[in-house]
Amino acid sequence: MLTPMRSARFWIVLAILFAANLLITQFLTSAGQPPTVTISYNAFLDQVDANNVVSVTSTAEAINGLTKAPVADQSSGIKSTKFQTQRPAFATDDLETLLRQHNVVMNAKDPNAATPLWVTLLLSFGPAILLVLGFLYLSRRAASAGAGGILGSFGQSRARLYNAERPAVTFDDVAGIDEVKADLQEVVDFLREPQKYQRLGGTMPKGVLLIGAPGTGKTLLARAVAGEAKVPFFSIAASEFVEAIVGVGASRVRDLFAKAKAAAPSIIFIDELDAIGRSRSAVVRIGGNDEQEQTLNQILTEMDGFDSREGVIVLAATNRADVLDPALLRPGRFDRRVTVQAPDRRGRAAILRIHTRNVPLAPDVDLDQVAGQTPGMVGADLRSLVNEAALGAARKGESAVTTADFADAVERTLLGAERKIILSDLDRERIAYHESGHALLGLLVPGADPVKKVTIVPRGMALGVTLQSPVDDRFNYGEDYLRARMVGALGGRAAERLIYGVVTTGAENDLQQVTRIAHEMVVRWGMSPKVGPLNFSDGDGGMLQQRPYSEATAQLIDDEMRRIAEECQVQAEKLLEEHRPQLDALAKALLRNDSLDEQEILKVTGIKQPPAEPIAAPVLTR
Ligand code: ADP
Ligand code: ZN
Repeated sequence: MLTPMRSARFWIVLAILFAANLLITQFLTSAGQPPTVTISYNAFLDQVDANNVVSVTSTAEAINGLTKAPVADQSSGIKSTKFQTQRPAFATDDLETLLRQHNVVMNAKDPNAATPLWVTLLLSFGPAILLVLGFLYLSRRAASAGAGGILGSFGQSRARLYNAERPAVTFDDVAGIDEVKADLQEVVDFLREPQKYQRLGGTMPKGVLLIGAPGTGKTLLARAVAGEAKVPFFSIAASEFVEAIVGVGASRVRDLFAKAKAAAPSIIFIDELDAIGRSRSAVVRIGGNDEQEQTLNQILTEMDGFDSREGVIVLAATNRADVLDPALLRPGRFDRRVTVQAPDRRGRAAILRIHTRNVPLAPDVDLDQVAGQTPGMVGADLRSLVNEAALGAARKGESAVTTADFADAVERTLLGAERKIILSDLDRERIAYHESGHALLGLLVPGADPVKKVTIVPRGMALGVTLQSPVDDRFNYGEDYLRARMVGALGGRAAERLIYGVVTTGAENDLQQVTRIAHEMVVRWGMSPKVGPLNFSDGDGGMLQQRPYSEATAQLIDDEMRRIAEECQVQAEKLLEEHRPQLDALAKALLRNDSLDEQEILKVTGIKQPPAEPIAAPVLTR
């Protein structure tokens, strides 16, 4: 994701103009104007006697004049041919005679006489004129490139930064998404030998949309396509246009396409396409979206305006294809869509291998095993995981990264960094019971993810954390599992209520999770018999803009969500009551040790390891 800087050139020219102004002003005011020095009256008379004084002028007792050789100021010692002095009121000398004797011109031109009119004018207006001329020059240049006006000069000068890049990355640097690489290989082949494709009458897609969660490697893939094909890569992030000045986005898009065509075969990469490409009908526009609209239209115009035979292929990335304006997906635009999935275990291992190419690993490190501990992580996460592990090793002064370093890094990445805050004993106990509630239910409810760790050391945003980690990836959730998650999430609150009779604000995040799961069960996955096998979701956990159901159904959805959540709460409270001794033991152990790992938890509670059923991404309840 690139963020082009504001055109350095524009600012440099502006800075030079300002500097020139300053210098000129300085020069004009000081040119030929020696400073005026103050001398004593005695010194003045001496200078007259020495025939050094050329001319004098006088107002009342103040005398100003010019000398041949410079005279020194009485206090600062600065020398100048321009002086001033004060004739004492009590002086009785005949100054006029004296001056006559020494041929001093009297009442000549006042050395401080007003500067000529043209100099004054130049001084006051010159800098301004220079600035205006400079600005005109800048915007003229922009206008000639089709941007128009002063505003255009910004668009243009920023667009000028979209210079071609020639990425050195190739498909070897991308792992875990082999299907996607295969899909894109065709694009690479075309860019390498456009003629060959055209001869056979094949047409290439103009636009390929890469769809996938953040960090799955969409940008990396686009760069790798350019790297494989050895063609220039032009990139732009659509979000840059969102707050841009009107007209700038469109002019930048124009410039970008012109550049790419001139450099064809080439690739244009538009990141975060959804930032401007959101469906125009679905989004309520609250003013100020003209810029997005104009930018989007310009992209569409440009894509319609060229032929893929020109050898320019537009790749775009988005997290969500479902919100995109359908106009973008029409034939001749982004008609090819490639989904970039989060990597599976094998993929994660391959990505880890890529990112550890230059990291010395201790012989005990098994990257396949690390991959197994990191379900749900995408390429970007894995890269920072390797980085964390390497930093940890460096901190400890090790010469290679060990398995322990990776374990620490996984924990830090999943749980967030530890935080130092002082808690009262009562708060600590409360948190210990809360987390014990989560952990115990994680062990007791069949189908829940194995509890890997529980801690009451504040980490990240949380005061305590229970980490439940699946055995491996899973892409499908059963209703039992979802209910187990909800029971576990409600466990913290249930424990607090069991022990203290009241609940605290600490369960906010737990309730968010419960609400989300209950909502999706009802409106997305058809898990409420009353609502029926219907899907009212927009596919991303949200509700549709316009409800395709009646008020009565809305009421039913609310009721069903509440029913499911309450059933889970009852189950959570019942289980904890039945296992009160284990809850106490766990809380006590936590207060003693701050953190417990899987084995310790099993030992303290005396629970046999539940049959491990493979399940999805790691679950954190706070
Ligand atoms: P996206 O554009 O999908 O948000 P990026 O391409 O910016 O993701 O990924 C960020 C970084 O994560 C990449 O530069 C790369 O180092 C790493 N990465 C992501 N996916 C992969 C992958 N499949 N293989 C190797 N590295 C990856
Ligand atoms: Zn909690």
